[in-house]
Amino acid sequence: MKYKLNNIKNCGKCNLYINQLPLLDKKDKCDVMWVGLSAKKVDDIDKNYPLEENTNSGLLIKEIEDILPSLNYYKTNLVKCLPLDNKGKLRYPSTNEMNKCISNLLFEIEVMNPKIIFLLGKNVYNFISKYMNKNNIKLNLPIKYIEHPSYIYVYKKKYKDNYIEKVINEIRKVINMSEVKRCKWVNMNNPLYIKYHDEEWGVPVHNDQILFEMLILESFQAGLSWECVLNKRTYFEEAYDNFDINKICNYDDKKLNELLKNKNIIRNKLKIKASINNSKIFKSIQKEYGSFSNYIWKFTDNKVIYEVGITSSKLSDTISEDLKKRGMKFVGTTIIYSYLQAVGIINSHDNECMFKSR
Ligand SMILES: [Zn+2]
Repeated sequence: MKYKLNNIKNCGKCNLYINQLPLLDKKDKCDVMWVGLSAKKVDDIDKNYPLEENTNSGLLIKEIEDILPSLNYYKTNLVKCLPLDNKGKLRYPSTNEMNKCISNLLFEIEVMNPKIIFLLGKNVYNFISKYMNKNNIKLNLPIKYIEHPSYIYVYKKKYKDNYIEKVINEIRKVINMSEVKRCKWVNMNNPLYIKYHDEEWGVPVHNDQILFEMLILESFQAGLSWECVLNKRTYFEEAYDNFDINKICNYDDKKLNELLKNKNIIRNKLKIKASINNSKIFKSIQKEYGSFSNYIWKFTDNKVIYEVGITSSKLSDTISEDLKKRGMKFVGTTIIYSYLQAVGIINSHDNECMFKSR
């Protein structure tokens, strides 16, 4: 059976104008379903789906999806047609119009069989929950209300990270992420480690702030496990002024002593001294190359290398040598190799790992 219903230009039921795709496009199942009300007016309906990145909601939702790339998502609007007022401006659909559209949504839910549904914003939530109560419709899956992503994106940007985290947690509650195939080395008893593997490790980084933080953290790893550093990461962030490079470059002896007394971080005098020294060199590289990202990515001509099962290579030898020549410490070839894996210049996910290709 084909469910390709997405070319209705005027649904005839609610008398609204242009159809907003989709009812069901190519996919036939999903893990997470997003349900909005109506997106913004679009000119070319063939290219625009609900909650795509040309909307604020779509931008925020994409951030969530990027964090859990192994899941399938389906985005739809309760009202598939574009409600315009008599001046041609987008307006909220009336309850009557929503009533006429809800059977479409229930049909989509049935076909796509999601594990969790997010209703975006109060209007959608109130309408759907009332409708389901009144008609005694019961779905055997969590249907969650979340604040409208566009509202958060535009007006409450400072809550954005919390918002994303909340949604991710809801998804994790219903979808057993441990069923997801990961690299064998991931300690499945450590949620921090799982999160790090899924969301950060091997994702190509071009942002100097992250490149800097990771380099400092990696330099603390020498002789220890990465898990050990990872477990202390929030303490490091606190102790190191959120890795503000300008502040770190100016750390004096007083600050050095303060760090040495901080039980929550790795208290190795040589490493702490090196972190301050390395920050200064990092900064001089930024000056020389425009950014540290330019510097580090030029070693591979901006290409990602896929490589598993080794802990150093010609590439890490070369970069390690260069950084040492510039005066950095704790940047041996193994540390650098590990760093390159962390920031995605080398992709070392196992072949079976679902996070290998993204
Ligand atoms: Zn992996």
